[in-house]
Amino acid sequence: MTERIFNFSAGPAILPLPVLERAREEIISFRGTGMSVMELSHRSSIFGEVLDAAEAGLRRLLSVPDNFRILFMQCGATSQFSIVPINFLASEGTANYIVTGAWGKKAFIEAKRRGQARIAYTTEEKQFTSIPEPSELKIDPTANYVHYTSNETIEGVEFKYDLDGGDVPVVCDASSNILSKPIEIERYALIYAGAQKNIGPSGVTVVIIRDDMISRVPEGLPPMMDYRLFAEHHSMPNTPNTWGIYLIGLVCDWLESQGGLQAMARKNRDKAERVYDAIDTSVGFYTGHADAAARSNMNVTFRLPTADLEQIFISEATAIGLDGLKGHRSLGGIRASIYNAFPVEGVDRLVSFMSDFARRNG
Ligand code: PMP
Repeated sequence: MTERIFNFSAGPAILPLPVLERAREEIISFRGTGMSVMELSHRSSIFGEVLDAAEAGLRRLLSVPDNFRILFMQCGATSQFSIVPINFLASEGTANYIVTGAWGKKAFIEAKRRGQARIAYTTEEKQFTSIPEPSELKIDPTANYVHYTSNETIEGVEFKYDLDGGDVPVVCDASSNILSKPIEIERYALIYAGAQKNIGPSGVTVVIIRDDMISRVPEGLPPMMDYRLFAEHHSMPNTPNTWGIYLIGLVCDWLESQGGLQAMARKNRDKAERVYDAIDTSVGFYTGHADAAARSNMNVTFRLPTADLEQIFISEATAIGLDGLKGHRSLGGIRASIYNAFPVEGVDRLVSFMSDFARRNG
Protein backbone atom coordinates (compact mmCIF):
# COMPACT_ATOMS: atom_id res chain seq x y z
CA MET A 1 0.00 0.00 0.00
CA THR A 2 1.36 3.41 -0.90
CA GLU A 3 -1.70 5.43 0.13
CA ARG A 4 -1.77 7.09 3.54
CA ILE A 5 -4.49 5.86 5.87
CA PHE A 6 -6.16 7.59 8.82
CA ASN A 7 -3.99 6.54 11.75
CA PHE A 8 -5.75 6.86 15.12
CA SER A 9 -2.88 5.21 17.01
CA ALA A 10 -2.11 6.52 20.51
CA GLY A 11 1.62 6.56 19.85
CA PRO A 12 3.82 6.25 17.97
CA ALA A 13 1.25 8.34 16.20
CA ILE A 14 0.62 10.12 12.94
CA LEU A 15 3.20 12.70 11.87
CA PRO A 16 2.32 15.63 9.60
CA LEU A 17 2.65 14.64 5.95
CA PRO A 18 4.70 17.76 5.05
CA VAL A 19 7.19 16.74 7.75
CA LEU A 20 7.58 13.26 6.26
CA GLU A 21 7.90 14.71 2.78
CA ARG A 22 10.60 17.13 3.83
CA ALA A 23 12.47 14.37 5.68
CA ARG A 24 12.25 12.26 2.52
CA GLU A 25 13.66 15.10 0.42
CA GLU A 26 16.55 15.62 2.81
CA ILE A 27 17.36 12.02 3.62
CA ILE A 28 20.07 11.35 1.04
CA SER A 29 21.93 14.62 1.39
CA PHE A 30 21.06 17.03 4.17
CA ARG A 31 21.83 20.65 3.21
CA GLY A 32 24.44 19.59 0.70
CA THR A 33 26.49 17.51 3.16
CA GLY A 34 26.18 14.31 1.14
CA MET A 35 24.81 12.63 4.26
CA SER A 36 21.51 12.25 6.00
CA VAL A 37 21.05 13.77 9.44
CA MET A 38 21.32 10.22 10.82
CA GLU A 39 24.87 10.00 9.50
CA LEU A 40 26.12 13.40 10.69
CA SER A 41 28.36 13.62 13.72
CA HIS A 42 26.42 14.96 16.65
CA ARG A 43 29.45 17.18 17.36
CA SER A 44 29.34 18.79 13.91
CA SER A 45 28.33 22.41 13.67
CA ILE A 46 25.56 21.51 11.26
CA PHE A 47 23.98 19.14 13.77
CA GLY A 48 24.41 21.90 16.37
CA GLU A 49 22.17 24.02 14.15
CA VAL A 50 19.61 21.22 13.97
CA LEU A 51 19.54 20.90 17.74
CA ASP A 52 19.31 24.67 18.21
CA ALA A 53 16.45 24.86 15.70
CA ALA A 54 14.46 22.14 17.48
CA GLU A 55 14.99 23.83 20.82
CA ALA A 56 14.16 27.29 19.46
CA GLY A 57 11.01 25.94 17.81
CA LEU A 58 9.73 24.47 21.07
CA ARG A 59 10.70 27.62 22.93
CA ARG A 60 8.78 29.84 20.53
CA LEU A 61 5.69 27.64 20.31
CA LEU A 62 5.37 27.18 24.06
CA SER A 63 6.68 30.67 24.98
CA VAL A 64 9.29 29.10 27.22
CA PRO A 65 11.01 31.86 29.25
CA ASP A 66 14.80 32.21 29.50
CA ASN A 67 14.95 30.75 33.00
CA PHE A 68 13.95 27.32 31.65
CA ARG A 69 16.19 24.84 29.84
CA ILE A 70 14.89 22.52 27.15
CA LEU A 71 16.53 19.09 27.19
CA PHE A 72 16.34 16.18 24.80
CA MET A 73 16.72 12.93 26.71
CA GLN A 74 16.17 9.26 25.86
CA CYS A 75 14.44 6.16 27.27
CA GLY A 76 10.91 7.53 27.00
CA ALA A 77 8.60 9.16 29.47
CA THR A 78 8.75 5.99 31.57
CA SER A 79 12.35 6.73 32.46
CA GLN A 80 11.22 10.12 33.80
CA PHE A 81 9.04 8.26 36.33
CA SER A 82 12.36 7.26 37.97
CA ILE A 83 14.52 10.24 37.00
CA VAL A 84 12.19 12.80 38.62
CA PRO A 85 12.31 11.24 42.12
CA ILE A 86 16.00 10.36 41.78
CA ASN A 87 16.71 14.06 41.15
CA PHE A 88 14.18 15.70 43.46
CA LEU A 89 12.82 13.37 46.11
CA ALA A 90 15.22 14.06 48.96
CA SER A 91 15.77 11.18 51.41
CA GLU A 92 13.99 13.04 54.22
CA GLY A 93 11.44 14.68 51.89
CA THR A 94 8.07 13.74 50.40
CA ALA A 95 6.49 14.07 46.99
CA ASN A 96 2.77 14.41 46.20
CA TYR A 97 1.17 12.59 43.27
CA ILE A 98 -2.17 13.40 41.71
CA VAL A 99 -3.29 10.23 40.01
CA THR A 100 -5.97 10.49 37.32
CA GLY A 101 -5.07 7.48 35.19
CA ALA A 102 -2.81 4.53 34.52
CA TRP A 103 0.27 6.56 33.62
CA GLY A 104 0.11 8.74 36.72
CA LYS A 105 -0.29 5.60 38.79
CA LYS A 106 2.82 4.11 37.23
CA ALA A 107 4.72 7.32 37.96
CA PHE A 108 3.57 7.17 41.57
CA ILE A 109 4.50 3.50 42.03
CA GLU A 110 7.96 4.22 40.71
CA ALA A 111 8.41 7.26 42.99
CA LYS A 112 7.32 5.16 45.97
CA ARG A 113 10.15 2.76 45.21
CA ARG A 114 12.53 5.72 45.53
CA GLY A 115 11.24 7.49 48.63
CA GLN A 116 8.24 8.90 50.45
CA ALA A 117 5.76 9.52 47.68
CA ARG A 118 2.12 10.08 48.66
CA ILE A 119 -1.07 10.26 46.68
CA ALA A 120 -2.57 13.72 47.16
CA TYR A 121 -5.62 12.89 45.07
CA THR A 122 -6.75 9.93 43.01
CA THR A 123 -9.76 9.12 40.86
CA GLU A 124 -8.97 5.41 40.75
CA GLU A 125 -12.12 4.44 42.64
CA LYS A 126 -14.09 6.15 39.85
CA GLN A 127 -12.17 4.16 37.19
CA PHE A 128 -10.23 7.28 36.26
CA THR A 129 -13.18 8.97 34.62
CA SER A 130 -12.76 12.46 36.06
CA ILE A 131 -10.37 15.31 36.78
CA PRO A 132 -10.40 17.15 40.13
CA GLU A 133 -11.46 20.76 40.47
CA PRO A 134 -8.51 22.92 41.59
CA SER A 135 -10.30 23.52 44.92
CA GLU A 136 -10.35 19.76 45.65
CA LEU A 137 -6.57 19.49 45.63
CA LYS A 138 -4.74 19.67 48.94
CA ILE A 139 -1.04 19.75 48.24
CA ASP A 140 1.35 19.32 51.13
CA PRO A 141 3.19 22.68 51.25
CA THR A 142 6.36 20.93 52.43
CA ALA A 143 6.46 18.45 49.53
CA ASN A 144 9.57 18.48 47.35
CA TYR A 145 7.27 18.51 44.32
CA VAL A 146 3.78 17.64 43.13
CA HIS A 147 3.43 15.41 40.06
CA TYR A 148 0.46 15.09 37.72
CA THR A 149 -0.35 13.83 34.23
CA SER A 150 -1.99 16.55 32.16
CA ASN A 151 -3.62 14.06 29.78
CA GLU A 152 -4.16 10.40 30.56
CA THR A 153 -3.72 8.66 27.24
CA ILE A 154 -5.39 5.36 28.13
CA GLU A 155 -8.56 6.65 29.81
CA GLY A 156 -8.87 9.86 27.78
CA VAL A 157 -9.15 12.37 30.61
CA GLU A 158 -7.44 15.75 30.43
CA PHE A 159 -6.79 18.64 32.80
CA LYS A 160 -8.33 21.83 31.41
CA TYR A 161 -6.14 24.00 33.61
CA ASP A 162 -2.47 24.30 34.53
CA LEU A 163 -2.05 23.01 38.06
CA ASP A 164 -1.18 25.60 40.67
CA GLY A 165 1.26 24.12 43.17
CA GLY A 166 1.64 27.33 45.21
CA ASP A 167 5.21 27.21 46.46
CA VAL A 168 5.52 23.51 45.67
CA PRO A 169 7.28 22.80 42.35
CA VAL A 170 4.86 21.33 39.80
CA VAL A 171 6.15 18.41 37.71
CA CYS A 172 3.96 17.39 34.80
CA ASP A 173 3.90 14.42 32.46
CA ALA A 174 2.53 16.09 29.34
CA SER A 175 3.40 13.24 26.96
CA SER A 176 0.04 13.10 25.26
CA ASN A 177 -1.11 16.73 25.12
CA ILE A 178 2.03 18.86 24.91
CA LEU A 179 1.86 21.30 21.97
CA SER A 180 -1.89 20.71 21.61
CA LYS A 181 -2.71 24.10 23.19
CA PRO A 182 -0.91 27.01 24.85
CA ILE A 183 0.03 26.47 28.50
CA GLU A 184 1.28 28.74 31.25
CA ILE A 185 4.82 27.46 31.48
CA GLU A 186 5.62 29.74 34.44
CA ARG A 187 3.39 27.57 36.62
CA TYR A 188 5.64 24.56 36.14
CA ALA A 189 9.00 23.53 37.52
CA LEU A 190 9.41 20.66 35.09
CA ILE A 191 7.44 19.28 32.16
CA TYR A 192 8.38 16.07 30.41
CA ALA A 193 6.94 14.38 27.37
CA GLY A 194 7.78 11.38 25.24
CA ALA A 195 7.91 12.72 21.69
CA GLN A 196 5.91 10.04 19.88
CA LYS A 197 2.47 11.65 20.03
CA ASN A 198 2.60 15.36 19.32
CA ILE A 199 6.30 16.18 19.01
CA GLY A 200 8.03 13.70 16.72
CA PRO A 201 9.15 10.07 16.66
CA SER A 202 9.68 7.82 19.67
CA GLY A 203 13.11 7.70 21.25
CA VAL A 204 13.33 11.33 22.38
CA THR A 205 11.91 12.71 25.60
CA VAL A 206 11.56 16.46 25.84
CA VAL A 207 12.18 17.94 29.29
CA ILE A 208 11.50 21.60 30.05
CA ILE A 209 13.05 22.43 33.39
CA ARG A 210 13.33 25.63 35.44
CA ASP A 211 16.86 26.69 36.33
CA ASP A 212 16.35 26.58 40.08
CA MET A 213 15.37 22.89 39.81
CA ILE A 214 18.68 22.16 38.15
CA SER A 215 20.46 23.65 41.14
CA ARG A 216 18.66 21.09 43.38
CA VAL A 217 20.04 18.09 41.51
CA PRO A 218 22.27 16.05 43.84
CA GLU A 219 25.86 15.28 42.91
CA GLY A 220 26.97 11.94 41.55
CA LEU A 221 23.85 10.71 39.74
CA PRO A 222 24.18 8.20 36.90
CA PRO A 223 24.90 10.41 33.87
CA MET A 224 21.79 9.45 31.90
CA MET A 225 19.61 10.44 34.86
CA ASP A 226 21.28 13.71 35.69
CA TYR A 227 19.31 16.79 34.56
CA ARG A 228 22.24 19.07 35.40
CA LEU A 229 24.57 17.12 33.14
CA PHE A 230 22.08 17.30 30.27
CA ALA A 231 21.64 21.04 30.83
CA GLU A 232 25.40 21.68 31.01
CA HIS A 233 26.10 19.63 27.90
CA HIS A 234 23.33 21.02 25.74
CA SER A 235 21.50 17.66 25.77
CA MET A 236 24.65 15.89 24.60
CA PRO A 237 26.49 14.26 27.48
CA ASN A 238 26.49 11.32 25.05
CA THR A 239 25.18 10.67 21.55
CA PRO A 240 21.60 11.93 21.34
CA ASN A 241 18.81 10.71 19.07
CA THR A 242 19.93 12.96 16.24
CA TRP A 243 17.24 11.88 13.79
CA GLY A 244 14.48 12.34 16.37
CA ILE A 245 15.70 15.84 17.27
CA TYR A 246 15.82 16.77 13.58
CA LEU A 247 12.21 15.64 13.13
CA ILE A 248 11.14 17.63 16.18
CA GLY A 249 12.51 20.74 14.48
CA LEU A 250 10.48 19.93 11.37
CA VAL A 251 7.32 19.35 13.44
CA CYS A 252 7.85 22.74 15.10
CA ASP A 253 8.17 24.41 11.68
CA TRP A 254 4.94 22.72 10.62
CA LEU A 255 3.13 23.83 13.78
CA GLU A 256 4.24 27.41 13.20
CA SER A 257 2.99 27.23 9.62
CA GLN A 258 -0.38 26.10 11.01
CA GLY A 259 -0.65 29.22 13.17
CA GLY A 260 0.97 27.98 16.38
CA LEU A 261 -0.65 26.59 19.49
CA GLN A 262 -3.69 28.90 19.64
CA ALA A 263 -4.70 27.66 16.23
CA MET A 264 -3.94 24.04 17.17
CA ALA A 265 -6.07 24.36 20.30
CA ARG A 266 -9.03 25.55 18.20
CA LYS A 267 -8.60 22.77 15.67
CA ASN A 268 -8.16 20.12 18.35
CA ARG A 269 -11.27 21.25 20.22
CA ASP A 270 -13.27 21.21 17.04
CA LYS A 271 -12.07 17.71 16.04
CA ALA A 272 -12.76 16.26 19.50
CA GLU A 273 -16.22 17.85 19.65
CA ARG A 274 -17.17 16.13 16.41
CA VAL A 275 -16.39 12.69 17.89
CA TYR A 276 -17.97 13.45 21.29
CA ASP A 277 -21.10 14.68 19.50
CA ALA A 278 -21.26 11.39 17.63
CA ILE A 279 -21.12 9.57 20.98
CA ASP A 280 -23.71 11.82 22.63
CA THR A 281 -26.20 11.68 19.77
CA SER A 282 -26.04 7.89 19.44
CA VAL A 283 -28.81 7.45 22.03
CA GLY A 284 -26.77 5.13 24.17
CA PHE A 285 -25.17 3.01 21.44
CA TYR A 286 -21.80 4.57 22.21
CA THR A 287 -20.84 5.38 25.80
CA GLY A 288 -17.94 7.71 26.56
CA HIS A 289 -15.49 6.62 29.26
CA ALA A 290 -14.68 10.08 30.63
CA ASP A 291 -17.07 12.42 32.43
CA ALA A 292 -18.06 15.23 30.10
CA ALA A 293 -16.00 17.85 31.95
CA ALA A 294 -12.87 15.68 31.85
CA ARG A 295 -12.97 14.67 28.20
CA SER A 296 -9.63 14.66 26.45
CA ASN A 297 -9.20 16.50 23.19
CA MET A 298 -6.42 14.08 22.26
CA ASN A 299 -7.70 10.58 23.11
CA VAL A 300 -11.43 9.95 22.77
CA THR A 301 -12.38 6.73 24.58
CA PHE A 302 -15.74 4.98 24.31
CA ARG A 303 -17.49 1.66 24.41
CA LEU A 304 -20.11 -0.13 22.37
CA PRO A 305 -22.91 -2.26 23.86
CA THR A 306 -20.80 -5.47 23.75
CA ALA A 307 -17.17 -6.50 23.36
CA ASP A 308 -18.16 -8.50 20.27
CA LEU A 309 -19.57 -5.40 18.60
CA GLU A 310 -16.36 -3.55 19.49
CA GLN A 311 -14.36 -6.22 17.65
CA ILE A 312 -16.55 -5.90 14.58
CA PHE A 313 -16.38 -2.10 14.78
CA ILE A 314 -12.58 -2.23 14.82
CA SER A 315 -12.27 -4.66 11.94
CA GLU A 316 -14.79 -2.86 9.74
CA ALA A 317 -13.08 0.46 10.50
CA THR A 318 -9.65 -0.96 9.65
CA ALA A 319 -11.01 -2.29 6.37
CA ILE A 320 -11.99 1.24 5.29
CA GLY A 321 -8.67 2.82 6.28
CA LEU A 322 -9.49 3.92 9.84
CA ASP A 323 -6.61 2.31 11.70
CA GLY A 324 -5.51 2.05 15.34
CA LEU A 325 -8.91 2.41 17.01
CA LYS A 326 -8.54 -0.47 19.45
CA GLY A 327 -8.56 0.76 23.04
CA HIS A 328 -5.58 0.11 25.31
CA ARG A 329 -5.38 -3.56 26.30
CA SER A 330 -5.97 -2.67 29.97
CA LEU A 331 -9.25 -0.81 29.32
CA GLY A 332 -10.66 -2.32 26.14
CA GLY A 333 -13.24 -0.44 24.10
CA ILE A 334 -12.37 2.07 21.42
CA ARG A 335 -9.83 4.86 21.51
CA ALA A 336 -9.53 7.46 18.80
CA SER A 337 -6.29 9.39 19.23
CA ILE A 338 -6.56 12.63 17.30
CA TYR A 339 -3.33 14.48 17.95
CA ASN A 340 -2.23 17.70 16.23
CA ALA A 341 -1.27 15.97 12.99
CA PHE A 342 -4.54 14.06 12.68
CA PRO A 343 -6.62 15.66 9.91
CA VAL A 344 -10.24 16.74 10.35
CA GLU A 345 -11.16 14.71 7.24
CA GLY A 346 -10.23 11.55 9.16
CA VAL A 347 -12.42 12.64 12.06
CA ASP A 348 -15.33 13.16 9.69
CA ARG A 349 -14.77 9.73 8.18
CA LEU A 350 -14.85 8.19 11.66
CA VAL A 351 -17.98 10.10 12.62
CA SER A 352 -19.84 8.99 9.52
CA PHE A 353 -18.66 5.40 10.05
CA MET A 354 -19.88 5.56 13.67
CA SER A 355 -23.32 6.70 12.63
CA ASP A 356 -23.54 4.10 9.89
CA PHE A 357 -22.36 1.33 12.24
CA ALA A 358 -24.86 2.31 14.94
CA ARG A 359 -27.69 2.32 12.40
CA ARG A 360 -26.79 -1.16 11.22
CA ASN A 361 -26.17 -2.63 14.67
CA GLY A 362 -28.25 -0.56 17.09
N1 PMP B 1 3.01 8.99 30.11
C1 PMP B 1 1.96 9.08 29.27
C2 PMP B 1 0.88 10.08 29.54
C3 PMP B 1 1.90 8.24 28.14
O1 PMP B 1 0.86 8.32 27.30
C4 PMP B 1 2.94 7.31 27.90
C5 PMP B 1 2.97 6.40 26.69
N2 PMP B 1 1.85 6.19 26.00
C6 PMP B 1 3.99 7.24 28.82
C7 PMP B 1 4.00 8.10 29.91
C8 PMP B 1 5.11 6.28 28.62
O2 PMP B 1 5.87 6.72 27.55
P1 PMP B 1 7.11 5.94 26.95
O3 PMP B 1 6.56 4.76 26.20
O4 PMP B 1 7.73 6.97 26.07
O5 PMP B 1 7.99 5.53 28.07
